[in-house]
Amino acid sequence: MQMNPRLSGLRCIRCASLWPPGDYPEGCPSCLAAGHPATLECRYEASPADGGIPLPVLAPVTLGEGATPCLDAIDLARAEGVGQLWLKCESANPTGSHKDRMAAQLVSRARLAGATRVAAASSGNAGVSLAAYCAAAGLQADIAITRTCPPLQREAMQRFGARLSVFEDSLGRWPYVAALCRNQGAFAGTNYLNPPVGTHPYGVEGYKPIAQEILDGCGLPTDIIVPTARGDLLWGIFLGWQHLLHSGRIARLPRLHAVEPYARLSRARASGDARGLWEGATAQYSIAGGTCTLQSLEALSRSGGTPVEIPDPAAAQAQQRLERMGLGAELSSAAALAAVSRLRRSGVLDAESSVVLMVTSDGRRD
Ligand SMILES: [Zn+2]
Repeated sequence: MQMNPRLSGLRCIRCASLWPPGDYPEGCPSCLAAGHPATLECRYEASPADGGIPLPVLAPVTLGEGATPCLDAIDLARAEGVGQLWLKCESANPTGSHKDRMAAQLVSRARLAGATRVAAASSGNAGVSLAAYCAAAGLQADIAITRTCPPLQREAMQRFGARLSVFEDSLGRWPYVAALCRNQGAFAGTNYLNPPVGTHPYGVEGYKPIAQEILDGCGLPTDIIVPTARGDLLWGIFLGWQHLLHSGRIARLPRLHAVEPYARLSRARASGDARGLWEGATAQYSIAGGTCTLQSLEALSRSGGTPVEIPDPAAAQAQQRLERMGLGAELSSAAALAAVSRLRRSGVLDAESSVVLMVTSDGRRD
């Protein structure tokens, strides 16, 4: 395990300032000081040969994450009236969600940085993943959850040795995690700012290989639909496609669309400011909360995608459709299928579209 020697620095996605390699859990220091939390993006020296998608940590701690199946859902494509529909099954990751890709890079960086504990706020899947990878790396995980965290999620975190702290509401977790990271030397496993910023850039980089896997398994799709809360997955997938574009492997980007249970990104986009609070009630707990991030807005605008609001009843109907095909999907993952119908009706998708749904989790711990 070592840092990638080609990692040359980080660049702010808002002000384009450059920063040396290091740990920036609060994003760009300049933009934060100006009151605009903004994600930093990793930069690498060009590889002489095509060495694949670069990641910050080489030979990271692993539990076998990545290389998940991409299923060709022919019947669903026909029913939805699109050319092709693929299901990228992230539930095949070791702890059952896409979060393992981020945890592998983030926890490895924590260990290389000399940290002995990782602190995070989680609705469930991220906490389980960080707990497992911390166990694998010999680090302590401190996870802040809410009272409504599903019991099986909570139990899984504890089985992997995490210490849990329970809070009344989602926003209440962040000051606790901030104190652990700022005052007690914990390594940040998630955002803790409000308004929020993306998770540590080295962790988010772990999502980039998804783009390569989709390209290898399905070709270059026109559209990818991503369940989104603070947008780490959305932005990380964008970074992967951006690398493929800049290295000449593809000639255009697929559009990335963000699924959310109620309007956050559409309202942030309309106001031109990601810093707002747009609360709503939802059973799609993995993508709940009233905040969004600049990185989500950037992934949408740079790829030409759109936010899609999917209320719980539509997500539940989509979940049943997937179950009748033998596919378990968490409610927020099934919402991606409901989004296909919406986007088809609104004309964003058409009969020629080739669409990938990010099935982020199978809901085994709901
Ligand atoms: Zn900045």
